[in-house]
Amino acid sequence: MGLVAWDGEMRRTRVFKIDFQGFAEPLIAQAAEVLRAGGLVAFPTETVYGLGANALDADAVKGIFAAKERPAYDPLIVHLAEAAELPQVTVGIPPVAWTLAAHFWPGPLTLVLPRRTEVPPEVTAGGETVAVRVPLHPVAQALIRAAGVPVAAPSANRFGQLSPTRAEDVLADLEGRIDLVLDGGPTSVGVESTVLSLVTPVPTILRPGGVSREALENVLGFVELFPGPASSGQGALASPGSLLQHYAPRAKLILYRGAPAAMLDVMREEALRLHAKGTRVGLLLAEEDLALFAGLPLILRAAGPAEDLEEVARQLFATLRELDAAEVRVILARDFGSAGLGLAIRDRLTRAAGGHVVAVQS
Ligand code: AMP
Ligand code: MG
Repeated sequence: MGLVAWDGEMRRTRVFKIDFQGFAEPLIAQAAEVLRAGGLVAFPTETVYGLGANALDADAVKGIFAAKERPAYDPLIVHLAEAAELPQVTVGIPPVAWTLAAHFWPGPLTLVLPRRTEVPPEVTAGGETVAVRVPLHPVAQALIRAAGVPVAAPSANRFGQLSPTRAEDVLADLEGRIDLVLDGGPTSVGVESTVLSLVTPVPTILRPGGVSREALENVLGFVELFPGPASSGQGALASPGSLLQHYAPRAKLILYRGAPAAMLDVMREEALRLHAKGTRVGLLLAEEDLALFAGLPLILRAAGPAEDLEEVARQLFATLRELDAAEVRVILARDFGSAGLGLAIRDRLTRAAGGHVVAVQS
């Protein structure tokens, strides 16, 4: 990732390794102090690493946008230590919010609710709603609790690029721009939270993520799915930050969808055609696909077995980073279906492809 000229003030980025056993309380206390003083702290959540600031401090929040080069129209998620703190940042909380909190918090579900006026417009991109979640990761939990303030935190990467699932990914993008990284090892879910709007007539998934549609429907009966990037980027964006081109590797990515055998055939043909033209080609596959491509002059990476979508989600961004590191020019990625976490994986790959999706007929 070539460093973009940074015209902000350089900061010395410190890194604290947090091991779960010793649970370094003094380090967490220092990180909390940085947040209270208006600084920027990257920390692990169960989904991806977040870049945190005091959500009630407009200047601190502006620092997040500057460090990430994130456009002001893309709102941030506010992280709380527990559901009981919801009234600190939202008003008019419907009963269904408490039901969902009881089922899924702490965990990778973000709820969009009416904003309390104390939450500065910088957090909500000027909107009257605010996105809120309670993360499960023990480091995130401890940090928010110790800070004693709600923590606004988008993913800790440069805007539009691959989300960070390891402390070194954060440093690759943001070293010199933020004050501190809490290194708690690789994250366990690997894709971002599910964003669910509760200000729509029917609860609506704005972004599929770590909590599946099926799990939400088990509790709510029915949820609407906001037509994702696959269908088109037209019209008013219900989720202001839901852009078609996002989560992108440096290489050009093409997503293939269809029945696995036919899909993989078409991918192999296209990969060999590109190779014959002198293009360095990478493939994002399932483990069981590797044998089909063995011996071919292609860069192969498997994110996990196709039937273990939790593993695929966990490895997704790191696998794309590896393909970038292998300096491939084009990545052909396979789809993993729409069941469970498959929907979130498809969403991220569709955006990484900037909508360049090939539907293979069998
Ligand atoms: P990130 O934390 O970088 O994954 O980005 C947070 C995402 O949450 C944004 O890009 C939006 O898609 C979504 N989001 C945050 N706040 C709101 C909101 N008030 N209404 C709808 N979507 C939101
Ligand atoms: Mg992000």
